[in-house]
Amino acid sequence: MLYFYQSISPHNIENLHSYLHFFFTQLFAEVNVTYDHAHHIHPNFQNIINEYTIQIDNKLEAIFNAYTGLNPAQKQIVRDAYSSNIDIENICNTSVSPVKYAQLPASISTPIKSLYDQLWGDSKVLGYVHVVASCGTVKSHFNDFRIVNKNSVCPFCGLEGLECEHDDGRDDYDHYLHKSKYPFISVHFMNLVPMCHKCNSKSKGQKDAPFNGAGNRRPIYFPFEGNPHGHCITLSINSTITDLGKLASWTLDINCQPAANVPKKDAWVDIFNIEKRYKARLAKDSYHYKDKLLKEYKKKSSRNGFDFAIFRDDKLDDLDDIYMQKEGIIWKTFHEFVLNDPDFENNVNGVI
Ligand SMILES: [Zn+2]
Repeated sequence: MLYFYQSISPHNIENLHSYLHFFFTQLFAEVNVTYDHAHHIHPNFQNIINEYTIQIDNKLEAIFNAYTGLNPAQKQIVRDAYSSNIDIENICNTSVSPVKYAQLPASISTPIKSLYDQLWGDSKVLGYVHVVASCGTVKSHFNDFRIVNKNSVCPFCGLEGLECEHDDGRDDYDHYLHKSKYPFISVHFMNLVPMCHKCNSKSKGQKDAPFNGAGNRRPIYFPFEGNPHGHCITLSINSTITDLGKLASWTLDINCQPAANVPKKDAWVDIFNIEKRYKARLAKDSYHYKDKLLKEYKKKSSRNGFDFAIFRDDKLDDLDDIYMQKEGIIWKTFHEFVLNDPDFENNVNGVI
């Protein structure tokens, strides 16, 4: 990804996950042998539980009963799955293995999925009146998130803009580890990542991010990386002609710094279909950008006597910080390619 988000935790929206965390902590401690609100339910969750008996309370009781019926080895599997799955950062760097619904004992996998499937979303539990009173809305989280994370371009593609706190709507929140596959994290906000609709719905979809197409574990970028250590994505176009309209006639290298992150970069390219999307964007619009550059150079050279080298250096300097603008990485790459191409220089100078 092009840049990393800054987490705004703690935030009210995390209360729902915290209430469930309280329940599982009490459940795993096995102090009470019966499901008991006074013991298993966080005091601030009590009025919510009382209001939404079918949607939440009955499901927690079903989880309690299923867990109580497991043997010690099966209980250990559930406890390990819980502690692993909430550790999103270490799942991303492969030091922790995520656990899927299918790996849980069937008797408890079903009630856990029944609960977590209906938690997320404005029209689901997170949007219920009493939950909103305790946790706020997803839009309120989005507004607070965008005040801290001000870049207006999607960090996963750099091609599409993001909504901001002043807009009526908000961008999609992607379950980075998909909620249909992994238990316990459908309202865990280290696993909920704002991204553009194309990245969320069309490119990533339900891809199982921590695994490649062959089913092998792979490291992936942690979207809230606190210390990115000189992280940078760069592109270079390999083509003998400046007309990029024919996709088969050129290739695109996608590189990253630091070099140790190449496996994460490769996973990102795969998950978000980056190479195909970037090449398509370059092929679609490069002719117009080249034409615009030619006209700009001719105007400046006739008006100010610029020679091509000065024009090129000024233009490339202007593009240094363009990454945080929509399509910035695409056009920085294209300008570097075309302005350093001798044929382009000859062309603008009237040699060819
Ligand atoms: Zn995107």
